[in-house]
Amino acid sequence: MQNLITTSDFTNEEILSLFDDAKIFSDLQTRPILKGKLIVPLFFENSTRTRSSFEIAAKRLGADVVSLDVGTSSRSKGETIFDTVANICAMKPDLIVIRHSQRGLPQSLVEHVSCPIVNAGDGENAHPTQALLDLFTILEHFDSKVKGKKLAIVGDVKTSRVASSNASLLPRFGIEPIFVAPKHFQVADTKLRQYEFLSEIIDELDIVMSLRTQLERHSQIYYASLQEYAKDYCITKKCFGKRDILLLHPGPVNRNVDIDDEMLEDKRNKILKQVQNGVAVRMAILKKLLLQN
Ligand code: ASP
Repeated sequence: MQNLITTSDFTNEEILSLFDDAKIFSDLQTRPILKGKLIVPLFFENSTRTRSSFEIAAKRLGADVVSLDVGTSSRSKGETIFDTVANICAMKPDLIVIRHSQRGLPQSLVEHVSCPIVNAGDGENAHPTQALLDLFTILEHFDSKVKGKKLAIVGDVKTSRVASSNASLLPRFGIEPIFVAPKHFQVADTKLRQYEFLSEIIDELDIVMSLRTQLERHSQIYYASLQEYAKDYCITKKCFGKRDILLLHPGPVNRNVDIDDEMLEDKRNKILKQVQNGVAVRMAILKKLLLQN
């Protein structure tokens, strides 16, 4: 039985064959190949996009989805996560999707469950399905010719699970991730190139991935207001100029903080394409784990 806890659970070959399926699914039409399968999303942390993306992916493949409001029910009654999951497992789901603020929690559940688990984000650790949909979007945009492409991940790279998942996945496909962050958001022990300002590196770049500042994970206040951060890190037309750079963001975008209004209208921005691809890639992941092929 296979799980998806981090992107290293899949080989490059498996990822490329997953993407072959995602291409077929990319019209997001209904294909009921998972009829009779029961998927249980357990979101202990807020989510709009990822949760609905998984649910739509499951329903487009004909699976049943039973969402439990775990955030407000079991925990408030004093139940541990392990007991909540044991109870869910006793109801025999075919697959569990889990998001939790605690790093490593999905991995620690693996041996306690009898069905595949998909990590939909564990604290600042990993967000494998986001990195896979990002890679799929990049491959699609560059017609699979991505070797040697350079991508700057801009913003709160230190506490972003999207940054860490992309930093480990993209180099496997020949893409160089480069971190661009204010000093207090920089990663201490990275092998990646790291810069303070986008202007230092912009001429080398093929892709920019802007990030949201992960305020919920900060133990101290770095900026009096996000407008102060935006002065140096908001992606604007002025900083992109006429360069042919693909602009990505995992969402939710803080408008005029992460990316300004004008760049959100710019045709280099492929954020909604990421959202669409996210459903197709998750359909392919559900198919892979539930049909084990
Ligand atoms: N949606 C992404 C995540 O869950 C990015 C973010 O929240 O900033 O990590």
